[in-house]
Amino acid sequence: MADCPRLQKCPFFNDQLDDMPDLSGAVKALFCKKNYRNCARYNIAKQLGPQNVPNNLFPADGRQANELLKKHKVQK
Ligand code: SF4
Repeated sequence: MADCPRLQKCPFFNDQLDDMPDLSGAVKALFCKKNYRNCARYNIAKQLGPQNVPNNLFPADGRQANELLKKHKVQK
């Protein structure tokens, strides 16, 4: 699969999170360069807008992403 379309602006990919994981290189290879459609950050940005992506949200944090999406739907 292709690179994530958010690579250039993504705080995670550009090492701008306060708490970058030690294995961020592996996470980037797995999500950002391969399976970006499975990335929690990508999915929140796509569905709620980039301004609604929590700074500390990790790509593999699908559970937190689903909770955010549920909350957003409830508030509508
Ligand atoms: S896959 Fe996720 S973490 Fe990687 S650049 Fe895209 S939005 Fe950012």
